[in-house]
Amino acid sequence: MAINFNKAEFIRSAAQPASFIRDQLPQVAFAGRSNVGKSSVINCLSGRKNLARVGATPGKTTQINYFSVDGKLYYTDLPGYGYAQVSKTERERWGRLMEQYFSESGLITLGVQIVDARHAPTADDVTMCDWFKASGCPFVVVANKVDKLKKREVEPNLLRIREVLSLRQTDRLIPFSAETGFGKGELLGAIREMTER
Ligand code: GDP
Repeated sequence: MAINFNKAEFIRSAAQPASFIRDQLPQVAFAGRSNVGKSSVINCLSGRKNLARVGATPGKTTQINYFSVDGKLYYTDLPGYGYAQVSKTERERWGRLMEQYFSESGLITLGVQIVDARHAPTADDVTMCDWFKASGCPFVVVANKVDKLKKREVEPNLLRIREVLSLRQTDRLIPFSAETGFGKGELLGAIREMTER
């Protein structure tokens, strides 16, 4: 049955495992550095301006936000990372929550690792991507803000992202722009493929 991706709503936040959603519906987990445009990507996929909060206050980084999509799957918005001004306590809380999330099997149907198309992935991006790899779940990498690149920069930048994240040939890297909607069809296709079964 077709999924209406525009029918998305916020369900709840989880700051500890007791609040994780475990109801057998597929979950698409989005991860990315603060400011990479994770909220914008989720909004773009949903055809909404403010479903996920764009530019949400850094510092409120230690909760997972769940969005229901057409009652058929969830977008699981993992807390952003890499924000310099986050306290050590907060960083540790983030690490604990991610460990708890990734160590529980069956939570992730598809991982979506978002990186900045303009730059080489950071050490944190590599770590996050390794978590997806270790979980054994299928994942795609989204290179967001591709609209900020000149045409001739796109291919070399995508290659560099592949290299730094040690992606295999078969791993999918999707050039994307939450600003223009470029790549939206491809990402929705990947989500549909993994969740409509
Ligand atoms: P988050 O912290 O990862 O959720 O990032 P946000 O969604 O809040 O986006 C951070 C900033 O990047 C905002 O100013 C967005 O408008 C901007 N942004 C996000 N995606 C894109 C994109 O694809 N292209 C451009 N040019 N700007 C973007």
